Amino acid sequence: MGCHKLLLSELKMWTSGRSGWISRLHYGISWRGKASFSSCSPKVCIVGGGPAGFYTAQHLIKARQDAEVDIYERLPVPFGLVRFGVAPDHPEVKNVINTFTQTAKHSRCSFYGNVNVGKDVSVEELQQAYHAVVLSYGAEGNRRMGVPGEDLAGVHSAKDFVGWYNGQPSCRELRPDLNCETAVILGQGNVALDVARILLSPIDILKKTDITQPALEALAESQVRRVLIVGRRGPMQVACTIKELREMVNLPGARPEMVVADFEGVTEALKDLPRPRKRLTELMLKTALEIPGEKEQERRNKASHIWGFRFFRSPVEVLADPDRSRAAGIRLAVNKLEGSGEAARAVLTGEVEDVTCGLVISSIGYKSLPIDPSVPFDSRKAIVPNSMGRVQQAAGVYCSGWLKTGPTGVIGTTMNNSFDTAQSLVEDMNSGTLDVSTGKPGSQSISTLLEKRGVKPVTFADWEKIDNVEIKRGEASGKPREKLLTVEEMLQVART
Ligand code: FAD
Ligand code: NAP
Repeated sequence: MGCHKLLLSELKMWTSGRSGWISRLHYGISWRGKASFSSCSPKVCIVGGGPAGFYTAQHLIKARQDAEVDIYERLPVPFGLVRFGVAPDHPEVKNVINTFTQTAKHSRCSFYGNVNVGKDVSVEELQQAYHAVVLSYGAEGNRRMGVPGEDLAGVHSAKDFVGWYNGQPSCRELRPDLNCETAVILGQGNVALDVARILLSPIDILKKTDITQPALEALAESQVRRVLIVGRRGPMQVACTIKELREMVNLPGARPEMVVADFEGVTEALKDLPRPRKRLTELMLKTALEIPGEKEQERRNKASHIWGFRFFRSPVEVLADPDRSRAAGIRLAVNKLEGSGEAARAVLTGEVEDVTCGLVISSIGYKSLPIDPSVPFDSRKAIVPNSMGRVQQAAGVYCSGWLKTGPTGVIGTTMNNSFDTAQSLVEDMNSGTLDVSTGKPGSQSISTLLEKRGVKPVTFADWEKIDNVEIKRGEASGKPREKLLTVEEMLQVART
């Protein structure tokens, strides 16, 4: 395959107003119009347009001035959990979108939404078209509790519940029944606290966020007054962080309700805790045990909603109502701890306790799923087995983000692990371990395949049309955006 390298002087034609677009007469133009630089440049494709995908692309583009990077995303819209996971009342977290947008608009990066890898195109086909494939498709499944009654009406995974209030198209039909007084959330991580906060937040706060309109309407009618956040271990093992706990403590209209006995021995153990854990535990102790000052007492007296942690409890069974049609409670096993610190293990005591509730949300973690039989997958750990991001026994295949590490870590953690993967890839290119000396067709051949299969990708410019429509719709109701809720609507706007 011939190599036509774009000269530096030619590169300077890249003007800010029309960045990425050069006269079709002079330069190779790929199928969606962005100029192709050279058939000899290293071509990398990334599967998944979430934080891991964008951070991997960012590092690759920076570290190799000749690399071209294409991001394939299943949905017509980018940004993964930044759009569909991060809580609507945490808009500041979503500022990372600005950095991702810069990457997507870089002359050597292209975004192809509406391409479901594993279905529309296989990983093997991507490997033929590109020098390297980076899998960054996150964790789209959820861990199941594995208890009887888990599939009853009124029981939801946090993944689906969060997807519902954040406008994930696959969760649109969830319509949770909020016509009950008590909700029980299983798990004590930050997702559990996000869900608790959304269930209990005053509607006046939520209506200024980008929460979806159906969720806002359902929450406005919600009868849920009490949310219990249940953990299998103790106060010194909660998985949430102090900022999220503080938000619960200060939540307008809500007061804490803890079980004092759960905190036995905690004050004495404080001095040996590492600093972040110590501060978190101190806040919990203060909330649970201290007699509040006059002002706080008055606030608590007026509160119409209640939240509380319940410790040393594991789910045993979701209890059905007499018709066996929906959840009416949950049976919890009472645990004791064996060992101490982060490594302490929950051990059953043999006792159980029933809690009446009409809504059960299981927030015990997300889970990656295999998307293509040709890619090695560790079903036990639910990750792609890798060493520093290099997928084991699959030369030229890499992974980053939650698919690489498992479903934990904030966006900053995902950024670091994605930079590490990109660095491994760059090292392999530089050392010759990854052969980039022969040309690869990149998106040109994939476009032909997709066209034959009737798949029409959504470009980043198309996403910007969706973005504009959403922002405009939001303006009408004083929200930062009103999200489009179906793939069909998104595609319609993208194609106008
Ligand atoms: P994802 O964000 O899930 O991105 C994966 C992308 O791959 C998605 O866009 C998906 O559509 C796409 N994809 C999936 N399958 C395919 C396929 N077959 N073909 C093509 N594309 C595919 N971190 C913070 O720092 N602050 C927060 O406030 C915060 N809130 C969170 C709230 C929730 C509910 C959750 C679950 C996480 C939160 N996090 C937060 C953590 C943060 O979201 C993650 O660290 C980060 O999103 C992981 O990035 P990722 O790219 O690996 O996965
Ligand atoms: P997580 O932090 O790993 O918490 C999972 C919770 O589920 C833990 O309390 C865990 O208890 C419990 N659990 C796991 N398996 C269980 C089982 N079989 N039975 C009972 N309980 C079980 O996961 P997450 O809350 O889904 O969050 C994922 C990541 O996203 C985290 O890194 C989180 O910080 C991040 N995130 C950040 C924000 C934010 O910054 N605002 C918001 C949301 C999410 P054990 O400890 O006993 O295992």
